[in-house]
Amino acid sequence: MTTIQRTIRDNGICVLTFDRPNSSANIFDRATLDELREQLDFIENNSQIKGVIFVSAKKSIFIAGLDLKSIGENSSANEVREIIELGQNLFNRIAALKIPTVAAIHGVAVGGGYEISLACDWRIASPDRATKIGLPETKIGLLPAWGGSTRLPRLIGLPKALDIILGGKTVASKLALKLGMIDDIVPAENLVAFAAKKIQQGKPQRKNHWLTNNALVVSVISSRLRPQLFKKTRGHYPAVTKALEVVTKGISKSVFDSLVLERDAIVELVQQDACRNLLRIFFLQERAKKLSVAKIETKPVTRAAVIGAGVMGAGIAQWLSAKNLPIILRDINAEQVAKGMSSIAKIYRDGVKRHTFSKNEARDGLDRIYPAPNEIPLRNVDLVIEAAVENLELKKKIFQRLDAMAGDETILATNTSALPISELAATTRKPERVLGIHFFNPVHRMQLVEIVAAKQTAPEILQRALKFTQQIGKLPVVVKDSPGFLVNRILMPYLIEAGNLFEAGATIENLDEVMLNFGMPMGPMRLIDEVGVDVSLHVAQTLAAHFGDRMKIPAVLGKMMEAKMLGVKNGHGFYLHEKSEEARPNPQVATLVQNQTAAGFSREELQERMVFLMVDEAARCLEEQIVAEPADVDFAMIMGTGFAPFRGGPLRYADSLGAEKIVGAMENLVDRGAEYFAPCNLLKQMASNGKKFYGN
Ligand code: NAD
Repeated sequence: MTTIQRTIRDNGICVLTFDRPNSSANIFDRATLDELREQLDFIENNSQIKGVIFVSAKKSIFIAGLDLKSIGENSSANEVREIIELGQNLFNRIAALKIPTVAAIHGVAVGGGYEISLACDWRIASPDRATKIGLPETKIGLLPAWGGSTRLPRLIGLPKALDIILGGKTVASKLALKLGMIDDIVPAENLVAFAAKKIQQGKPQRKNHWLTNNALVVSVISSRLRPQLFKKTRGHYPAVTKALEVVTKGISKSVFDSLVLERDAIVELVQQDACRNLLRIFFLQERAKKLSVAKIETKPVTRAAVIGAGVMGAGIAQWLSAKNLPIILRDINAEQVAKGMSSIAKIYRDGVKRHTFSKNEARDGLDRIYPAPNEIPLRNVDLVIEAAVENLELKKKIFQRLDAMAGDETILATNTSALPISELAATTRKPERVLGIHFFNPVHRMQLVEIVAAKQTAPEILQRALKFTQQIGKLPVVVKDSPGFLVNRILMPYLIEAGNLFEAGATIENLDEVMLNFGMPMGPMRLIDEVGVDVSLHVAQTLAAHFGDRMKIPAVLGKMMEAKMLGVKNGHGFYLHEKSEEARPNPQVATLVQNQTAAGFSREELQERMVFLMVDEAARCLEEQIVAEPADVDFAMIMGTGFAPFRGGPLRYADSLGAEKIVGAMENLVDRGAEYFAPCNLLKQMASNGKKFYGN
């Protein structure tokens, strides 16, 4: 079975069609690179060929780039060097062909898929939404090393190339054309015919970017960008600075020498922890897309209902409708439903502005939602997702009604953050069809979904819900029903400790700054404001009811509630969120608590106290088999909370420190009177036997 099919047309044009067997994607693995070598041997030795067109037979992918497995964890530095050289040499041979070459792009052309295009004389692309062009390598800790860092700045000029490469950006055809990354936009069905015309035109004259690519401008740009990048990455993402170095040094060298820089840089990067951890996340995402819990064929969900049209209900209904599902959106009265519909319309409007949807797609999406201010039959619905207010008694009543209204096959899911799902299931006639499908806020931006199995949930229901989350393009993690499930349970001790440290005298800025430095996307105080002080306190209380001794809720949260400081939603929280200004710490909060002792915590101490509680809770989740393996925890925490991705998640991070250090620090805090730091048994065992979460 081969990936690349060759046809030679009457006019002497050779079309190389990429069509990887048994796969929806084309990628460059070793076998495909070997095939490409054979094709180039043939083309170079055949004087009848007048030009070459590279095209894909796949529906939505041109070529998705290098097979990352070939540079993953199990590859040595030499193996990485070898595969990089292999690709560079092949693309150099394409660039050196005497005949014109065209990349006719329909679908995703990223990484190596765009780099082969850069080696061609012409690049043309379809206007379809599926067509995305770019170099995302720095997002996974790498840099474009098959010529991307060398050829893109020569094609479009240094500033624009740096924007794409350092930002790890992929863009739609329209923008790609504007930037000069492609030469023409042509309907998918006409790509090959148009490519043939390009070949008739011969080789192009390329623009010389002497204005931006000269030594002076290059040195100004790089000295201006370096501190900016450092500020943004806080030094945690070496690929970005490395890419800047390679591109700016390479531009004044020959293509050959610049390619050597690319190669040496990527070999260096793949050996670093940051790159390995980011690659692992990529593989975990791929795993989530294919995850299965039972070998059971399940029917896709074709109609769904959402109960509750608040923040989450509206978000969920919008997402599902955008995925072509007809949705019933129910709330207690017309006013609430209308409020929900208007926030859905806003998400669609913003999506149109960002080119996520066309105007028609947005209108069709909105039309797929049926607003229901009154109870309506749910017999023909495959799935109901309840997202009403977080109140167990209310939810129990709702589930009893759903049980009566829904068809026998209908899955009944709740989006609760922390309430016991088995208790909701127990109120129904068929508890085996009840489970949690826990989305994160904001739904249209957060990819993670916790699939929560209650003790009654049937395997086929779990499997169908799992397939449903994949069907709608979310990334599932399967967790057991237990207070706070996985993500909120691990996150809460961290937020609570931030509140405790604040009461003990640490400042809002300091607490947030310390965690931003650790690599979190947002500090804990800011996060509480975003989530809402009321919601945070409620989840904390639910968890404290079960894990009382180690969830020591800081009084400040309750005081803030009394003072109506709810966070972003009403503009007052740990920060003042005024529309025109950047949020600034709210001086009022400190006046709510008395025992501020202005304690002199070191940065390290602050960080350790907050992070070690997360590590401990994560270890407890493993102990209690809330999830199947450490990778589930790390994946969920990175995708659900943005836990410093380059650290690989709380458990990878724990491994990098060693359990002994963590347990030592926690026991030290216990000795100083903070009993809630007592580490769990699993951590203590690991400290004494030197074991790691991910093996030794
Ligand atoms: P919300 O207060 O914004 O919305 C709740 C909606 O439920 C309101 O519109 C209310 O009118 C409606 N409602 C109340 N009783 C109802 C009933 N009997 N039938 C139908 N609708 C009813 O709350 P939210 O933030 O959207 O949270 C909803 C659920 O999602 C909660 O269980 C919450 O814990 C969970 N959740 C929230 C977040 C978050 O960040 N907000 C994240 C994940 C999960």
